[in-house]
Amino acid sequence: MTMTKMEIIMKKNFTTNIRHKSFEEKLTDLIIEYQMDTPGFTPVTEYPADYIPPSDADYELTEELQKKMYEAFLDEDYEEEERLRNLLPDLGPLPTINIEKTLALIPEAERNSLIDWAMDNDSIEETITLKCLKCDYEEEIDYEIVEETWFEGPYPTSYCPQCGKPYFVPIDIYNKKKKK
Ligand SMILES: [Zn+2]
Repeated sequence: MTMTKMEIIMKKNFTTNIRHKSFEEKLTDLIIEYQMDTPGFTPVTEYPADYIPPSDADYELTEELQKKMYEAFLDEDYEEEERLRNLLPDLGPLPTINIEKTLALIPEAERNSLIDWAMDNDSIEETITLKCLKCDYEEEIDYEIVEETWFEGPYPTSYCPQCGKPYFVPIDIYNKKKKK
């Protein structure tokens, strides 16, 4: 992996983190896009060497819990939803795309244009650190998800994944409020 640099971006009342994606990450994104645009094309994927596939019982339990979580969500019982989420079995890592082997399957002209694009263009990932005013739980998440659900107010507020209370705010806001 090549090194990536971090930047901090000031929004209205809070900051987000910008990370520049590595060459490999950009190629992975381009391969996924290529797959969506090319019916029948499947990237070469692989699991880590020590990967053990989940059992049928794990899959059944996951399905059952997800159903109950959805019901809790509809009932607006976010504490119950979170309790159930913590019971989900670990299904292990997702397979990763083998870039070299996948690129070999793409026609040369298209392959070269993907590689050129990844070399010439910058691609970023924007995240935000949120912290709960109630229980101090902290998490860094994709900023896009936060932005999509931010409809009003000077900063986004969401439900804390740990205590279920609606006091999950940008860490700058948390620090400002806790100082008072
Ligand atoms: Zn909390």
